[in-house]
Amino acid sequence: MPYEIDETHDPSLESWVESANDPETDFPIQNLPLSLWEMTNLSSQGTHILVPIGDSFLDLDELVEHDLLDRSLYPTFHYDDFDDASKSLAAVMRSSPETRRRLRERISDLLTGKDPSLRDNPEAREECLLDGDDVHEDAMPETHSIGDYTDFYASVHHATNVGSMFRPDNPLLPNYKWIPVGYHGRASSVVPSGTPIVRPKGQTAPAEDGGAPGFGPCKLLDYELEMGVVVGRGNDLGEPISIADAEDHILGLCLLNDWSARDMQKWEYVPLGPFLAKNFATTVSPYIVTMEALAPFRSPRYERPDGDPAPLPHLDSDHDRDAGALDITLEVFIATKQMRDKGIAPHRLSKGNFKDMYWTVAQMLTHHSSNGCNMQPGDLLGSGTVSGPTRDARGCLLELTWDGDPFANPPVKATGADRTPIDLPSGEQRKFLEDGDEIILKGYCEREGFRRIGFGECRGIIQPAKG
Ligand code: CA
Repeated sequence: MPYEIDETHDPSLESWVESANDPETDFPIQNLPLSLWEMTNLSSQGTHILVPIGDSFLDLDELVEHDLLDRSLYPTFHYDDFDDASKSLAAVMRSSPETRRRLRERISDLLTGKDPSLRDNPEAREECLLDGDDVHEDAMPETHSIGDYTDFYASVHHATNVGSMFRPDNPLLPNYKWIPVGYHGRASSVVPSGTPIVRPKGQTAPAEDGGAPGFGPCKLLDYELEMGVVVGRGNDLGEPISIADAEDHILGLCLLNDWSARDMQKWEYVPLGPFLAKNFATTVSPYIVTMEALAPFRSPRYERPDGDPAPLPHLDSDHDRDAGALDITLEVFIATKQMRDKGIAPHRLSKGNFKDMYWTVAQMLTHHSSNGCNMQPGDLLGSGTVSGPTRDARGCLLELTWDGDPFANPPVKATGADRTPIDLPSGEQRKFLEDGDEIILKGYCEREGFRRIGFGECRGIIQPAKG
């Protein structure tokens, strides 16, 4: 098992960065995610890797400059262009889990003061520890270099709900319980949290059979709550990754919003799957929470109901069955323009958990490379919409405002058109997203005996269609 609980997870560890000891922070000393920021007005120009700690950020490149971090754990490059930090991050991705564990341990030792050389050096502290407000004002989060993006469909609850809208008596297609279904998405339109999302235009189904389709701004715009899996080490073309090795190839996870144009999707998806309804924008949170940090929050794999087949041997292992899932609570909030103008707090739309997925991250990666497809450092896998068995755990509006419920007893059948709007605290209602709506994803892990860690936020505001 590559990722084990060690002294860096000790819940009693505290940092001399006081804000990291706040029980509410997403970024205590036990978390230490990696993030990439482009500094525009700060004293350090260029793109840097920052580790959030409480309300502050630790600059890994400055640590190296001050001889506080060894290049064997974190390689740096000459600062000739903006890509340098991205290269450093790629080097971390390619490194072994053991090297990454030592990097985590080193950062932890510096921030607890077990090694006091940063805490007790005012000049190094000034340059290595950045004030959070300054970073949020004078730097922009960047996505890491993503070569390829693949989106899966790993929640059986989401797949059953969506399938029921079109095939009430046969919602799941025969392959669903045998392969983690996915499609190749587009990496160029994966954007960091905070990037405005322009309402897409596209074709929609003809009003009557045989008529011409419409073309215009999407009328049924939606979000999808997902986790993003960031690939660490890759594999050579023709050399599949086994399920036993799959987790070694994962750097960590982030939040992911797969913005979706439902009216365009319905018209275009046959026979080759999603295309323009999905690739206009995908938003990711800036913080990659590492597999090391997630070690205390492993959970048994989703228990398949009686009658479901066991996974084929190449997608199965004792470790994956016993601890392949990740216990991550996920929430979605909406803030309309009117709510923001009136100072009304964002309204929670749903709350679910990543451990309810039918397929694990290791199964998705193993399946992806099982034909010899080569994964590369930084490749991004979307998990598919995270929906749970209850209505309040549905991870998109397509499901939340739908009147059917295949998991009720007895099941409630309804067509995809049968919808009830959601009431918002401003008195507004929503079936799908309007211009000015902001969607905010949040995620966190909690377990008795361990420190709570969080994923930060993944935000985007809908802008009117162009032209
Ligand atoms: Ca999706």
